[in-house]
Amino acid sequence: MTSYPAPFWFEVGTRLEGSPGRTGRLITPHGEIRTPAFIPVGTAATVKGVLPETMAALGASAILANAYHLYLRPGAEVVEAAGGLAAFMNWPGVTFTDSGGFQVLSLGAGFKKVLAMDAGIPDDAVIAPRSQRLAVVDDDGVTFRSHLDGSRHRFTPEVSMQVQHRLGADVIFAFDECTTLMNTRAYQEASVARTAAWARRCAAEHRRLTDVAGPDRAYQGLFGVVQGAQYEDLRRQAARDLRSLGFDGYGIGGALEKQELGRIVRWVCEELPDGAPRHLLGISGLDDLFSAVEAGADTFDCVAPSRTARHGRVYTPDGPLALKRAGLKADCGPIDPECDCYTCAHYTRAYLNHLLRSGEMVGATLATVHNIRFVVRLVDAMRTAIDTGGAAGLAGLRTQVLGRYFAGGRG
Ligand SMILES: [Zn+2]
Repeated sequence: MTSYPAPFWFEVGTRLEGSPGRTGRLITPHGEIRTPAFIPVGTAATVKGVLPETMAALGASAILANAYHLYLRPGAEVVEAAGGLAAFMNWPGVTFTDSGGFQVLSLGAGFKKVLAMDAGIPDDAVIAPRSQRLAVVDDDGVTFRSHLDGSRHRFTPEVSMQVQHRLGADVIFAFDECTTLMNTRAYQEASVARTAAWARRCAAEHRRLTDVAGPDRAYQGLFGVVQGAQYEDLRRQAARDLRSLGFDGYGIGGALEKQELGRIVRWVCEELPDGAPRHLLGISGLDDLFSAVEAGADTFDCVAPSRTARHGRVYTPDGPLALKRAGLKADCGPIDPECDCYTCAHYTRAYLNHLLRSGEMVGATLATVHNIRFVVRLVDAMRTAIDTGGAAGLAGLRTQVLGRYFAGGRG
């Protein structure tokens, strides 16, 4: 969609036989991502507790921040004046911002009763009435109250694009409505139509802002976001709608049940243009990484490695390990003897147990360093498995890694 010969493109490497998964390279003005790649989350322009140079040393090639949070604090104009997101946070690599749709709308659903997301029958009646929500959607945009001070704000597709252009990330996302699995089919249909209309407006505003900025400003790739919840026909329709708009890449968002993740990603990837990069927004477990890559996701962000680390829960090849456990009080081994991270090279489980039980900040930092490195190495291994062994190589790695991980379960 760019009219400039900008350094933003995607190149497919090795393809998986029989599924949309592949390896590749995404080249952006701030560097290259070899895919599949795990994109750590730095919501407020920081991966909590870890210096950007440490993140780079861990092998992370990109960080995803959140437009909604940065718009509220410190303000997109502050980040722009600093030279854009990467310069503002002293990050030497690629940056992504998500559109704010998910955060704004998660203020909005406000469930009236607590339901297991995978247990209930879709029913709009469990969603709180409009007057009780922090965010209200209409066809033009979303009006919401800040989670910081209750002030009133409005995001439209145009505002989201303006904010994300000021933030200056290499990959930005179209503003979308993120529904829940509790919404009815009728609501999901209306929402997919609304998200398609918003995507069209985002594409137009992105073109306008890119033209105004001129060729000297680093090009930002705009990704349309495919919604449609758990419905195959809606997911495929949403993907086709966005494809017709010709985005630089595509995000796959919304409510996903864990056991449906692979199927949904695959439906969407089968409809999207083969040569465009696909980003899966927000996944959680290690098994989800394999499902996502097999089904065709090139990049995916995941808050779990850093969030769980701050609570003292770390990954090992034999399953998750709770570092605060009393039994580790005098354990002089590393978290994981097979890990090459700084934490495992220099620190014992006993020391981490002490730090985390004492609430010392360094405990969270060292645990996060390990978890980020663990996932980066795992995804590197997945990429190598695809390049050297194709679908069989990836399947073999999956069986080996997950078999051992879930057989352990020492947490
Ligand atoms: Zn480690």
